[in-house]
Amino acid sequence: MIVGTGLGGLTTALRLAKLGYQVEMVEKYHQPGGRLNQLKKDGFTWDMAPTFFSMSYEFKEFVESTGIEMPFEFVELDPLYAVNFANSDKFYMIYKDLKKLAKEFEAVEPDFEAKMTRYLAGAGKLFHDTENIIIKQNFNSLAHFLLQMTRVPWVHAPKMIRSMWSEMERHFESREVKEIFSLVAFFLGATPFDTPAVYSLLSYTEMVHDGYHNVRGGMYKIVEGLMKEFEKENIKITFNTEITGYVESNGQLSHLVDTEGKRWDADIFVINADAAGFRSQIFKRPKFTEERLDRMKWTLAPFTMYVGVKGKIDTLHHHNYFLGSNFKEYAGKIFKNSISLSKPYYYVNVNSRHNKESAPEGCENLFILCPVPDLRFKPDWSDRDELADTILTDLSQRIGFDVKGNLMTLTVMDPKDWERDFNLYKGSGLGLAHDLNQIGGFRPKNYDEVFGNVFYVGASTTPGTGLPMTVISSRLVTERIQKKHGLILA
Ligand SMILES: Cc1cc2nc3c(=O)[nH]c(=O)nc-3n(C[C@H](O)[C@H](O)[C@H](O)COP(=O)(O)OP(=O)(O)OC[C@H]3O[C@@H](n4cnc5c(N)ncnc54)[C@H](O)[C@@H]3O)c2cc1C
Repeated sequence: MIVGTGLGGLTTALRLAKLGYQVEMVEKYHQPGGRLNQLKKDGFTWDMAPTFFSMSYEFKEFVESTGIEMPFEFVELDPLYAVNFANSDKFYMIYKDLKKLAKEFEAVEPDFEAKMTRYLAGAGKLFHDTENIIIKQNFNSLAHFLLQMTRVPWVHAPKMIRSMWSEMERHFESREVKEIFSLVAFFLGATPFDTPAVYSLLSYTEMVHDGYHNVRGGMYKIVEGLMKEFEKENIKITFNTEITGYVESNGQLSHLVDTEGKRWDADIFVINADAAGFRSQIFKRPKFTEERLDRMKWTLAPFTMYVGVKGKIDTLHHHNYFLGSNFKEYAGKIFKNSISLSKPYYYVNVNSRHNKESAPEGCENLFILCPVPDLRFKPDWSDRDELADTILTDLSQRIGFDVKGNLMTLTVMDPKDWERDFNLYKGSGLGLAHDLNQIGGFRPKNYDEVFGNVFYVGASTTPGTGLPMTVISSRLVTERIQKKHGLILA
C-alpha cells in the first residue's frame, strides 16, 4: 500500500510492481501526480508546479530498471532561462555555451568566461565527489552517514561553512552575475544567503553536466505516461481518500484509516506524504511534534497563478525570472515575512510557447510562481488578490503587454491551498530545507523508527527535493524494502 501519488509514490509503485509486489495506492487529491500536477480550465492547460528538471539520467535509470519504454519525451532547454531586473528592458539569456553566455555579461563582468570556468570547475568536482557517496546512498544510521562524509575530499570543506552568496562573491564582481547564478538556491526553496556553498554543485548540473529539460506536451506527460504502465501492471489507485489514522499490532502497522473510517490493510506501507509531516500528524511521534517541526527549516511556500491571456506575447521567453533591485534585502527577509510583497520577485513560464495545444489559438498560458513565507510566518492570505494584481501589473509593465487587459482566465493558489490540496506542511513548497543538518543521516529516514513494515519516499526524506531526487528516493526505498522483505519474483 502506498499513500500518495506524487512522483516518488508513482515511481516506487512501478519499481515494486515490476519486482512482483502487489501494489495499491490511496491519494487525497482527485488525480495522480502530487505537486507534479495539471490544471485544465477555460480551454487552457497548465502544469501546476514543476516546469523543468535536471539530472534527466535518473529517469533513464528508472526506465531501465523497470524495463519500460521512456514514457515521455525530454526537451533540452537552450537557453536555460531568461532573467530581467527591475527598471531594465534587458533580458539576460542564460546559455550553456560559455562563449555565448559571456557576451550577455560583457558589459558588466570582465573576464566572465575565465571566472565562470573556474567557478564551474570547483562545483563540478564537488558534484562528482559527492553524487554517489552522499546523494545516492541509503544510510543505516547517523554514524554511517558521518562515515560517508569523511570520504568527501577535504578540499570541499570550506564550501560547507561559507554561504552560496560568499562563494559568488569570491568569483564574480557584478551584482547581475552574482544574483542570477545564485538563483539555484531558490530551486532548493531557500536563498543564497542561508544555503551552504556546497549547493554551487547545482550550477554545475545546470550549466555543464546535464542542463535542464522539460517535456514535450507539458510536464504532466510524465504522469500520463506512468499511468499507462500502471494499467499494464494493474496498480489500483483510489482517489479523494485521505489517510488520517492508523492501527498497530505487535510493533507493526496493521492498517491505515481514512477520513471515512475505512481501513486499508497491507503487509508493507510506503508513505509518499511528507515524511516529517506524516510522522507528526498521523503517527504523533514525540520527535516530530508540531513544535519540533516548526523549529526545523522549511523551504519557501509557493504563491502560484495560472493565467490565460488573449494574444501572443513575443517579449516573454519560455522560462523567465523577474527580479527586483533589492536582492539582498528581499532574500534576507522574505522567509520570515519581514518584507512587504509590494515588489515581489517571481518566475513566469509560458508553456504555450512550445506546446501549442496548451492554449487556444492566438492565446498564451502563463504559469507564475512567487516564492513567499510559509504559513508559520504568514498564516493570513486574505490579501492574495492584491499580490496577484501587483504581479500582473508589474509583469505587464516589464514586458510591454497588457496582461490584465487581455486576461481570459485566472486561478490563484496561495500556501493555504497548497497545504489543503496536497498536505504540504505549513504550505512549504519543496518540503524540508537542505541545510547540512537536514540532509543525509539528519533527514527524516526512509524507514520508520517504530514500525518495521513502514517506509517513506519523496521530497522530505532522503535524498531531497525536486523531481530527479524523488526518482532517486524511489530507488533507495525500493532497495530497502527488497533487502528487508525479499525479491518476490526470485
Ligand atoms: C510550485 C512548485 C514548483 C516546483 N518546480 C519544480 C521544478 O521546476 N523542477 C523540479 O524538479 N521540482 C520542482 N518542484 C518540486 C517537486 O514538485 C517536488 O519535489 C516533487 O514533485 C515531490 O514529489 P513527492 O513524491 O515527494 O511528493 P508530492 O508531489 O508532494 O506527492 C505526495 C502526494 O501524497 C498525497 N498525500 C499527502 N498526504 C496524504 C494523506 N494523508 N492521505 C492520502 N494522500 C496524501 C498528496 O496529495 C500528494 O499527491 C516544485 C514544487 C512546487 C510546489
